[in-house]
Amino acid sequence: MAVVGHEGTGVLARIGAGMPGGARLIVCGRCRLAYSSTEWLGLELAEILDSNCVRQLLSDWPAGDSIEVRHCGRCGAEIARAARSGVAPGRG
Ligand SMILES: [Zn+2]
Repeated sequence: MAVVGHEGTGVLARIGAGMPGGARLIVCGRCRLAYSSTEWLGLELAEILDSNCVRQLLSDWPAGDSIEVRHCGRCGAEIARAARSGVAPGRG
């Protein structure tokens, strides 16, 4: 059974299949629209929770990591994303 036909390839491209490693998409929890990092930055900022604030709720939250909340450009729902501040990408 074919899962992906020609009509599906556009969707796959949209959600980043085959993109180079490191590209992470942010998906709206309500309408499922996916945003690239660049598109994410263009969304209306609702609020930023700094790491001290988050760590009151999540004791193992990494120090220095904040949470950005932005409004979905299509449906207006709030989308939250962890935001690294001043930390170089990559591990170890
Ligand atoms: Zn949405």
